[in-house]
Amino acid sequence: MTARTLDGCIKCGACVRACPVLAQEGRDAFPGPRRFTVEVPRIGGVIPSLRPALSMCTTCGRCEEVCPSRLPLPRALVQVRAIASAGTDLPDGQARMLDNVAGTGRTVVPDLPPPAIPSSGDLLFFPGCIAAGRLPEAVSAALRLLEAAGSRPFAPPGWACCGSPLEKIGATGPLEEVHARNAGLLGTGRVVTACPGCTVELRSAYGADAWHIIEHLHGLGGIPRERFDGTAPEVKVALHRPCHLARVVGPHTMDMARDLLEAAPGVQVVEHEGENDCCGGGGGVASSRPEVAEEMARRKVRSAREAGAEIILAPCPFCVVNLRRAGGMEVEDLTTFLARRLDPGQNK
Ligand code: SF4
Ligand code: SF4
Repeated sequence: MTARTLDGCIKCGACVRACPVLAQEGRDAFPGPRRFTVEVPRIGGVIPSLRPALSMCTTCGRCEEVCPSRLPLPRALVQVRAIASAGTDLPDGQARMLDNVAGTGRTVVPDLPPPAIPSSGDLLFFPGCIAAGRLPEAVSAALRLLEAAGSRPFAPPGWACCGSPLEKIGATGPLEEVHARNAGLLGTGRVVTACPGCTVELRSAYGADAWHIIEHLHGLGGIPRERFDGTAPEVKVALHRPCHLARVVGPHTMDMARDLLEAAPGVQVVEHEGENDCCGGGGGVASSRPEVAEEMARRKVRSAREAGAEIILAPCPFCVVNLRRAGGMEVEDLTTFLARRLDPGQNK
């Protein structure tokens, strides 16, 4: 991959101009993707003074999106990160994450009572560590929406982290372990997730028929308007575009999310200037450089507030957790919001 990166770069600088971390932190703090993915392989390694900057990439994919050669810069950067971090001390947040994986198989030790998830049914639901550990209401909401769509969702007992966050920080040993733990649990049928990182990882690393819940519900025709509570108060919402959903799973997901939302009575989706911007929650930045992630989240919240939104909805648990760090505005997972607006008669 690095060889292809070297060959294809025409030195246009588009990736540098588009990078949100560089724009926020400045070129001295974060020199941009080209330096790591093109120049590092050329000189044969990471200069030690560049290592702190390497942990600041959120893997948002904006650089790849604008690159005229469509070079896989975030993936190449993650590979460079794995090489550079070998044998070095990890930031505290990431060391804790690896301890958790070694102890429980998951990156997060729940700080709230875990959601009750059936262990058998007819549709495999993969909860993901962040939702199960930090947003149990989003897991319960996803189960409720899937039930409202006629399924009996279940999670296989003993599921472990999908591996996405481990790959992003270059933790190759633990990554192989969780892949091995999950391999026999996924089966060959459809797997539904509520986390874009899980969707992408289950597809790419396990070859699973993984669907984000937005794609799954939309494919069934959405949630009929009559299933919602017609008396729910009117609300203006800002729909955040999670990078790993909108850019990696695909831009179709955001049209689908909008369709699902607009079926709910009283919901008005407002455009906001920073809609397409990364919130800072991905790529391990929230655990390695929380101050960078928090400032990115503050910018998003400011933009949504200025557009008149009362709440930000994110179809990604990582984004929800990071946007909440900024404070100053209600932030909710899209599944939680939709499930709360179901008709109370159907809202267990
Ligand atoms: S993936 Fe995003 S944060 Fe990382 S270098 Fe590319 S544009 Fe910058
Ligand atoms: S956008 Fe692509 S081609 Fe242009 S400088 Fe960056 S890596 Fe090179």
